[in-house]
Amino acid sequence: MSVVDDNIAKAKGYLTRFSESGVMHHIAGESVPAASGKTFEIISPVDLSVLASVAKGNASDIDAAVAAAKEAFRTWSKTPGAERRKILIQVAEAIEARAEEIAFAECMDTGQALRFMSKAAIRGAANFRYFADQAPYAEDGEVKRTPTQMNTTSRRPIGPVGVITPWNTPFMLSTWKIAPALAAGCTVVHKPAEFSPVTAKLLVEIAESAGLPKGVLNVVNGFGEDAGKRLTEHRDIKAIAFVGESRTGSMIMAQGAATLKRVHFELGGKNPVIVFDDADLERAVDAAAFMIYSLNGERCTSSSRLLVQDTIYEDFTARVAEVAKRIKVGHPLDPETVVGPLIHPEHEAKVLSYFDKAREEGAVIAAGGEKVGDSGCFVAPTLFTQARNDMTVAQEEIFGPVLTAIPFKDEDEALQMANDVDYGLAAYLWTDDLNRAIRMTDNLEAGMMWVNSENIRHLPTPFGGVKASGIGRDGGDWSFDFYMETVNVSFPRSHHKVPKLGG
Ligand code: NAD
Repeated sequence: MSVVDDNIAKAKGYLTRFSESGVMHHIAGESVPAASGKTFEIISPVDLSVLASVAKGNASDIDAAVAAAKEAFRTWSKTPGAERRKILIQVAEAIEARAEEIAFAECMDTGQALRFMSKAAIRGAANFRYFADQAPYAEDGEVKRTPTQMNTTSRRPIGPVGVITPWNTPFMLSTWKIAPALAAGCTVVHKPAEFSPVTAKLLVEIAESAGLPKGVLNVVNGFGEDAGKRLTEHRDIKAIAFVGESRTGSMIMAQGAATLKRVHFELGGKNPVIVFDDADLERAVDAAAFMIYSLNGERCTSSSRLLVQDTIYEDFTARVAEVAKRIKVGHPLDPETVVGPLIHPEHEAKVLSYFDKAREEGAVIAAGGEKVGDSGCFVAPTLFTQARNDMTVAQEEIFGPVLTAIPFKDEDEALQMANDVDYGLAAYLWTDDLNRAIRMTDNLEAGMMWVNSENIRHLPTPFGGVKASGIGRDGGDWSFDFYMETVNVSFPRSHHKVPKLGG
């Protein structure tokens, strides 16, 4: 048996329970079907075969999950931080113990390649560990003294919260949200993406087996327009942490308006990687290729616009095209695979439509630009050259292994192009000139910038975007600011004079 066949057999083993019994909701510690009895099917992007049927949640399922989260909040929010820390560390350990199962399930459910997904569970566990360690200090505040008053601030968990996640790297992404929410003392109702619900179910089961009390984390499957919408509108849900498309973010903001929902949005991107001719070009080629062709390019921080100084444009793009052509496209469970199938035929059709668009608008397809094979959602790693920044392929988020390369003359033009998009999530800059790096990063419109590096995440740093890429920041204490309310209590420092009214 080859390694791939062996992995496929193992994955089948891990997924048998879902193919036989379906993916249920998880409410108040119980695995339950949809109240309506309705289900929908999920498919493997490898060959479009049915993987499982999934409970199709609607308002009554959300209401039941919110009631469970509200009840559990009474105890969880008062559980001492040190105790929450202990439980969440146990959750991290339990995730690590089932890392292979999580990785294999994620590969089959999403099409992401094992070489990247094998780290997803480990990174998810790291998220739990990091926020667990902050839990004992989550309530801490400041003291502000005046001659008459001593003000003390503190934080308290905001209440049950809703977490709504996308399909690209669902396990890792959901832990970014769920771990800090639980560490802060909130309880959670999670609505995972309809295309990839499997690992959300694994996470809640693992967490409860590790000691998380029932009802603290609940999962309701279903579609955005019914289950998702109800969650955002529910009066007892105090905040919504959402990761997904910018236009869905707008809808959620409108849906949450009546109940004055606090929102945290991590949305789309059209992130530039800007390469000047004084940069270490070999490293820049590798980083640019890595940031668009890893994770199938289905990555919010992917460097989907390659802005290259005109003096090196031909040579640099030829080198990136060479890399793109050498990348292995294949089964997600093949350890050699870099690009697996895209999540779903609908998304594949969207990505393929940009190939026609690029040709129509006059870009050159220097690599890829076509579907791979006859079955499954496989798309070749693609590079468009001779593009302009006003082309559709330079403006819209394609969310696939597709890179658009545009030449620039000087710093001013690079900056103008980099900022001339609706989005502002991340930017990558390659130059050996420190003063130029400072000038550029001072003016780039992006929430996160990496100089001479690909995206390397450090959990205490803020993660999030500007413009249409988001509202709010994850990471470090920024996460607790979102999941907690800050209150101020003022004590008199002396017997000050209280105004007397009415004579
Ligand atoms: P999407 O917006 O279509 O769906 C995301 C989630 O929102 C799903 O669970 C969906 O069911 C739900 N949803 C849809 N309509 C809803 C509604 N009206 N009310 C409530 N919930 C609703 O996004 P997607 O296609 O699943 O994911 C891809 C997008 O996610 C890309 O734009 C990508 O850039 C973005 N993303 C951003 C980040 C980040 O950190 N900025 C990270 C990963 C992905």
